[in-house]
Amino acid sequence: MSSSAAPRYVLAIDVGGTKAEAALVDDRGVVLGASRHRAKTGADASSEQLASAVRTVVTQTRASLPAGAALVGVGIGCAGPIHLREGAVSPLNLPVWREYPLKDLVAALVPDLPVRLRMDGLCITLAEHWVGAGQGIDNLMGMIVSTGIGGGLILGGVTTSGPTGNAGHIGHIEVGGFDDPCACGGIGCIEAIASGPKTVAWARTQGFAGESGEDLAAAYAAADRSAVAAVARSGRALGQAIASAATLLDLDLVAIGGGFSNVTPDLLEFAREAIAQRVQFAYATRVRVVPSALSGDGPLIGAAALIHRAELVP
Ligand SMILES: [Zn+2]
Repeated sequence: MSSSAAPRYVLAIDVGGTKAEAALVDDRGVVLGASRHRAKTGADASSEQLASAVRTVVTQTRASLPAGAALVGVGIGCAGPIHLREGAVSPLNLPVWREYPLKDLVAALVPDLPVRLRMDGLCITLAEHWVGAGQGIDNLMGMIVSTGIGGGLILGGVTTSGPTGNAGHIGHIEVGGFDDPCACGGIGCIEAIASGPKTVAWARTQGFAGESGEDLAAAYAAADRSAVAAVARSGRALGQAIASAATLLDLDLVAIGGGFSNVTPDLLEFAREAIAQRVQFAYATRVRVVPSALSGDGPLIGAAALIHRAELVP
């Protein structure tokens, strides 16, 4: 077999509020299962514990490279905000890391390889475009609706990072008619209204007795009145935020993933109804809102795409 036929892998890393994860991803966007390693992070961890978690998963994953395979680079997706020029990160939910030099930490472990860093929302959008619901779509927003709400943008066929790396952070768009205070300092941000925990918290003010997104999903399925009201409220707010983004950016498609996006398919239907109210703006109401077509591997596949599909990441 010639060397040109050897599998080419990227070492992909995803750093978030609860875990750091790494895996090898090939040039078709497939994760090599045996190379996948994770380590706990968390808001209580020290800076050195977080760094150690990243070092551990990178070292373990690199050691999983099959004989004869090529390792062509390292892609890192991290919870925002990030500092693109400095290769540093300040994840909102990892408070001990502020302007932490994550790219340098990783580069020191792999001095022979190119390393690229982007926000996790941009990475999942790249993954949707590569192997998910956004294939062939040039104007795309990827969204995660989970503990928080994040996103990323592909406009005109290439990703938009912005000068600091934080473009596409849809979670902190303010939504009309809501005054929920947000951790970022804003009032009525979509994350403060429609994340999983915030939706559950609002439902509880209406008499809902459950405590988790799973409880809310079950209550919605049983037509519980407070659960239905809460899901409708969050779905409408999501639709308002998406309509604002579509009005600004002229989007073809929004692909929505994340644990809470699966609370019921009706969540996206409520969003579509809110978008449809922009009756005079056909260019905005044309936006299609669809569920993510990615598995849980999306963040890692997208981090790998920073190298495998580098032409989309200027
Ligand atoms: Zn906010």
